[in-house]
Amino acid sequence: MPRFSNKVAIITGSSNGIGRSTAILLAKDGAKVTITGRNAERLEQTLKLILAEGVPEENVNSVVGDVTTVTAQDELIDSTIKKFGKIDILVNNAGSAVPDATGAQGLAQDIDTYDRMFALNLRSVVQLTKKAKDYIIQTKGEIINVSSIVSGAHGFPDSSFYAMSKAALDSYTRNTALELIEHGVRVNAVNPGIVVTGFLEATGAPKQIGEKLYDYFASHKACLPSKELGQPEDIANLIAFLADRPLSKYIIGQTIVADGGTTLVLGIGAHNIADILSK
Ligand code: NDP
Repeated sequence: MPRFSNKVAIITGSSNGIGRSTAILLAKDGAKVTITGRNAERLEQTLKLILAEGVPEENVNSVVGDVTTVTAQDELIDSTIKKFGKIDILVNNAGSAVPDATGAQGLAQDIDTYDRMFALNLRSVVQLTKKAKDYIIQTKGEIINVSSIVSGAHGFPDSSFYAMSKAALDSYTRNTALELIEHGVRVNAVNPGIVVTGFLEATGAPKQIGEKLYDYFASHKACLPSKELGQPEDIANLIAFLADRPLSKYIIGQTIVADGGTTLVLGIGAHNIADILSK
């Protein structure tokens, strides 16, 4: 029997990238899935890809909406309960490095960018978790938050608000994990490194800029020791592992990095000591 048979999952941000890949994987492995995003066309594409895996259409619930709005949050929960009767797995994946309206970075970023960043990457997760919690307690289910390596003990001044929102999300993961394990619910997070998705495009970066950046990262071991860019499936597999109770039941409240080694490189170690000394 497929490992997620009889499980119901909501995956936010499943109209693209990591969320789409996760929805396909969970549905292929037997879950009934609620998929969602603002872009109806891209969400339809996710549906098509799920159906192409042989998943029956009645196993998919599509909700077009902005996850930062109460209307969309309520529709996600209500339509899932109406269609599937329960919630076992919540993947809080929707997120972005919300661009500044003026293109500013760092300290110059407008405070409105801070508000929009936190509304998406943190507030919507808090709201959706609150709304889904009683249902997930009933099924003794799983919550997986999609964070980022930028949340760690490094500085990312260009993306300060983004990094702050993900650091707060990690803290939220730990706190809700401790509270909800009392009820048999596990909460964990995945912290991806560089993954080829619509992420850069969503920041407003033209396609060729994204490609240039990816090429640079993949050819510099100080950026990416594995020299292999992450694909959405690499993160979807980790999310599925954390959603799979028999496989991962002893992991509670962790923030698990999947980054091809990026966070292992300390700036000082990225330089070739022999080269420095030979000059
Ligand atoms: P994508 O841009 O490919 O996907 C983001 C998804 O989030 C889309 O489905 C998008 O849907 C959805 N989304 C964004 N804003 C909203 C909103 N206001 N309401 C509803 N849905 C929304 O990027 P990724 O797949 O890379 O991003 C997924 C998660 O992974 C994010 O939380 C991101 O921060 C995190 N991450 C990504 C990394 C990477 O290198 N790619 C690295 C580290 C973390 P739509 O546009 O249709 O609304």
